Amino acid sequence: MTLHDTYDPSNIFAKILRGEMPAVKVYEDDIALAFMDVFPQSEGHTLVIPKDVTARNLLDMPPEKLGPFMLVVQKVTQAVEAALTPDGIVVTQFNGAPAGQTVYHLHVHIIPRSEGKALGRHGSGGMADMGDLEKLAARIRAKL
Ligand code: AMP
Repeated sequence: MTLHDTYDPSNIFAKILRGEMPAVKVYEDDIALAFMDVFPQSEGHTLVIPKDVTARNLLDMPPEKLGPFMLVVQKVTQAVEAALTPDGIVVTQFNGAPAGQTVYHLHVHIIPRSEGKALGRHGSGGMADMGDLEKLAARIRAKL
């Protein structure tokens, strides 16, 4: 899929937003939903997605919705930091397949980093244990 294409409402994150697919939720309000990445690149890898938009990527995001969305990203990042006390946190997103994007509903990755610990590969890691994700999500939720 190119950078400029039609939003596909059958993408997996749209299904999660509609409640058609499960997710290990961390935070939800009118603006955004945060949930655990099921193929985490590190322990605590969390995703934040905007609600009520048909934005495949950052370029498509209505400008008036970007600020409020990024405030949620910051709030969740602060909770991840408080819960897991990593040495660093990558906050990132990808636009278009050549950039590494695999799901075409705008999302921001929050990836805790630990000193000396290698980062898992984007898009090709193993599936996490759901029980482990639930426990991590509970720790993050407790800081929100
Ligand atoms: P990207 O490659 O930037 O589009 O990121 C998509 C992310 O979604 C990847 O990190 C995947 O591991 C993650 N992912 C894919 N399917 C699911 C799912 N059903 N629940 C949670 N995370 C998912």
